[in-house]
Amino acid sequence: MQAWSLTHKRSGKRVGLVPTMGYLHQGHMSLVHLAHERTDAVVVSIFVNPIQFLPGEDLANYPRDFERDERLCREAGVTAVFYPAPEELYAADHSVYVDETRLTMGLCGRHRPGHFRGVATVVAKLFNVVLPDVAVFGQKDAQQCALIQRLVRDLNFPVEIVIGPIVREPDGLAMSSRNRYLSAPERQEALCLHRALELADDLYRRGSRDVKVIREAMGGCIAAVPAVNIEFIEFVDNSTLEPVTAMTGKVLVALAARVGTTRLIDNTVLGA
Ligand code: AMP
Repeated sequence: MQAWSLTHKRSGKRVGLVPTMGYLHQGHMSLVHLAHERTDAVVVSIFVNPIQFLPGEDLANYPRDFERDERLCREAGVTAVFYPAPEELYAADHSVYVDETRLTMGLCGRHRPGHFRGVATVVAKLFNVVLPDVAVFGQKDAQQCALIQRLVRDLNFPVEIVIGPIVREPDGLAMSSRNRYLSAPERQEALCLHRALELADDLYRRGSRDVKVIREAMGGCIAAVPAVNIEFIEFVDNSTLEPVTAMTGKVLVALAARVGTTRLIDNTVLGA
């Protein structure tokens, strides 16, 4: 993979990378499009990274369909698909990890301890393996975006990070490979997450600046659907990810919830 990238770069081409865990959907493909706009050769990596899953999470069941992914990539004009086996990327005695110590303490990091260490480590490895000039990530995983931008800044990776907006189903549900786990009724129930975020956008637009009031309205919207259990609804500064009490600047409203046994996340940025 490195040799392939170096050949492209030496011939003056810019290499773009879209890291994914596969089971591709239009959210992923929108990132491919952004990579195409900025680079000459686009690499999609497909790797269900074992070290970002906690014990008891869905590593073994995570949806996989490489043939379909490959076809979607071909149709989208992707130049190369990087699809390593776990043992190709991790030596049996792998012992070096990348730990971010501020941005990943709250939100999903609090509920999935060790998850972002796995993410930062695999992204650092992918940067060293694929040697991209540009890497594209999705705002759907807002905390991951903040982490990657910090990783690049603090470890001086020569990679430009581009963030693509959240792509949604026509009814508002944020696209996710994990939506595959939802039963038909759960699929309907999951819509309350987007409705709650829309409510926050709406209250903000109509002048509400009270975090407590907006959070309570969102909580009420989700609590009305018994099958959905809120893990968190948090209001944080969009760049530091520190909790805010006042609505000044850009505020990231991030939520995580379980719909049945499926954990879903979504977010919106107020004041953007
Ligand atoms: P995943 O395969 O879920 O690890 O996601 C790979 C990349 O696609 C990450 O940068 C995600 O943030 C991004 N992504 C996932 N879902 C969406 C979506 N609905 N809209 C935009 N980007 C997304």
